[in-house]
Parts: sequence; structure tokens; C-alpha cells
Amino acid sequence: MASARRRVVVIGATGSVGGSVLDICERFSDRFEVTAMAAKSNADSLLALSKKFGARYACLADPTSETAARFAEEGVELVSGLAGLAWLTEMPEADHVVFASSGTDAIVALQRALEADKDVSLANKESIVAAGPWVMPLVRRPDQLRPVDSEHNAIWQCLRSEPGAESRVSGITLTASGGPFREWTVDRMQNATPEDALAHPVWPMGPKITVDSASLMNKGIECIEAMRLFSQPHNRVGAVIHPKSLVHGFVAFKDASVKMIFSRPDMRLPAASALAWPDRLHLDGYEEFSTPPITDWRLDFQEIDAERFPCFGTAMEAGRLGGAYPPLLIGADEVAVEAFLGSRIPFLTISNIIELVLQSYSGSSPSSLEDALSLIGEGARLAREICLAIGG
Ligand code: NDP
Ligand code: MG
Repeated sequence: MASARRRVVVIGATGSVGGSVLDICERFSDRFEVTAMAAKSNADSLLALSKKFGARYACLADPTSETAARFAEEGVELVSGLAGLAWLTEMPEADHVVFASSGTDAIVALQRALEADKDVSLANKESIVAAGPWVMPLVRRPDQLRPVDSEHNAIWQCLRSEPGAESRVSGITLTASGGPFREWTVDRMQNATPEDALAHPVWPMGPKITVDSASLMNKGIECIEAMRLFSQPHNRVGAVIHPKSLVHGFVAFKDASVKMIFSRPDMRLPAASALAWPDRLHLDGYEEFSTPPITDWRLDFQEIDAERFPCFGTAMEAGRLGGAYPPLLIGADEVAVEAFLGSRIPFLTISNIIELVLQSYSGSSPSSLEDALSLIGEGARLAREICLAIGG
């Protein structure tokens, strides 16, 4: 018999977005049952969460037999690796799969979940940017794929009551808080430490995306994500700085009307809207989610300064060129950010490395998912070579 509660699988349960998703599942446990969860290597947290939520299945990338025994003792069946991840997402006991893992490991699992006709909430942007052409055609019905990234969730909310929306849109604008270096000069940024970059003024997030937010690479990647998710050409997608992060995205329509979504900057809100659609959960009773009084709204928007934030332009150019460039960008950025977080390269060198990787590539465009995945690897390899050459 079908369960009355939606049975949710959370990939990346131990991470920042995973925590937001689980928070909503816990508050609305009458509506959501967490059947399975996955993490990469954080076995202790995953086991504690599995027990707390009563999950029957869990997945880790490469667990030891001792770890598997600990899960089994608690009545949790542990599967492993990418095959285990794919199995979790297509199992009959799952209605809704949330992709909140970092990196690109979950791309095949994402494909499988769509093919198995699960509802899919997607926070992971790397998979859509690097492999969008092999993921988006697998979407079987409207709103099967629900973006959780706050800006894309806002655009999705603006578009979902607009039949044939793609052809009605004249432009999509995402907002960016501007990150911790919004007011910094280039000289000051040159000496920025990982601690400086990790001190995001608005959004608490995992380390990789926090550094990408400081360089505005995140916003460039998000523009490519929007092109893919909403079938828009590069020249119809852009971004502006909005320090308060109260408006998350705008859609301008061909009849000169503009819709926007406004809410507190809290990842639990887009997570809730994606999990509950077509319903809306009653979150307005909670003080922490309440909308500020209209008289306190200060809607300030500024252009992105391309000179201080070169990563934004580099990503936009990769989005314009398409083909091999988005997966190369994803691979190179992963390595450059890791080198910066390890204090091996200065902050502004992140953009130099990625730019060099994209310039040095002379191969062809990917014609399969395998090609796209190997281009992510190629971007990472080229970035590592450059890091080594400059002593990083
Ligand atoms: P975190 O670094 O906080 O968490 C990453 C999570 O992914 C962890 O649970 C990690 O497990 C898990 N993970 C990594 N690789 C695998 C794998 N192969 N199999 C299973 N689980 C895996 O990241 P965030 O939560 O910040 O970000 C997650 C994704 O969401 C990213 O793509 C990011 O760009 C996107 N996003 C994040 C936002 C945010 O507010 N944080 C906002 C919008 C989008 P383990 O703990 O074991 O390492
Ligand atoms: Mg975002």
C-alpha cells in the first residue's frame, strides 16, 4: 500500500543544504518520511541522522566493513559507491529524491531518479552546469525537477503558472549578495585568507560554494545553471548585486511585466517549496521565517564589478561558448578553490588558473555524458598542472 507520507531520499544529508532539507522534513514529519540518506565519508553523522530520522537505507562512498556493521546493528542497510547512490534514488520505496551533495559524483544517480519518474529536488548546481544536456532531456513532466538553489527556486516559482513559459520570457535576473568582498579593493582581495573568504555575510554554506560566492564564480555558475534549467539563451540571463538577499530572482516577460520572489535568505524556504509542491507548507507561523514588514524593505541593486570579480565574467563566457567549457570550468574551479582553501594560492589566482585552463583547451565539444565527465577531469588536471607550475 502506498505510504501517505512522501518518502524522501536525501543525498548529501550531512551537508549544509542537507541540514535545511532535514529541518523541513522534521518540522513536517506528518508529511515527509526520510527513507534513505547518503553522504560521502562522514559515517558518524550519517549514522546519527539515520537513527534520528528512522531511515532504513544509507549510502557512503567507500565504507569499511566495520562501518557497515555499525549501520547494520542499528537496523540501517548500508550500500556504497556510485552504484549504491543510484540504487537509492530509483528504489520503489522512494517518492522524492533530494540532490544536496557537492561535486559531480551524483550525476548518474540524478539521471536514474528522473528516469524512474521520482520527484527530484536539485540543489547541486555542478551536475546541471557540467552535464545539463544529458540530464534535462530526462525530465518527464512539468515540475518533476524542482530547483532548490534559492535563485533558481525563485525563477521556478515565477514560471510555474506560466504555460509555455520559455517563449514568454524576455530575461531572467539572479541576485547575488556580493559575498564578504563586496566592498573590498583588488589590493585587499589579493591578501584575502581562506578565513576571510569563508566569512559570508548572509548565507551559511559549505566551504566550496562559500569561496565561489566570495569570487562571484558562484553567480556565474548559477547563470549557466539558469540557462540549462529554464532553456534560455546566454543573453537572456544575468545577475545583479543585492546585498540584503531578500529578492532572489526576477523574470521579465515579453509583455513588460516583471515577477520576483521575495523571502528571508534561508535555504529552508526554497527546500520547503520544492518538497511540498504543489502545496505550500505553513511556515509563516514561525518567527524565523516571517517576512520583514514592507516598510523595512530596502530593494537596492547594483551592477557586478567585472574588474574586481573576474570569475563572474569567465563563467559567463563559458556559458556563452557552451560545449566543453562549462564542464572544464567546473573541474578547474574545484581544484583552484581547493588550492586556495589549502593556502597554496592567493585568492585572485583562482580566476587566473581557471582562465588559463579555458584558454589552453583546444579539443572538441562533448557528445556524451562520458565525454562531459572526462572534461570535468581534464579541467581539474589542467588546473592542477598550473597550480604545480606556480608552486601552489
Ligand atoms: P557541503 O559541503 O556542506 O555538503 C556536501 C554534502 O555532500 C555532504 O553531505 C557530503 O558528505 C555530500 N557528498 C559529497 N560527495 C558525495 C557523494 N559522492 N555521495 C554522497 N554524498 C556526497 O555542501 P553544501 O550543502 O553547501 O552544497 C551542496 C550542493 O548544493 C552544492 O552543489 C552547492 O553548490 C549547492 N548549493 C548550496 C547552497 C548552500 O546554501 N549551501 C545553496 C545553493 C546550492 P560528507 O559530509 O560525507 O562529506
Ligand atoms: Mg544560489
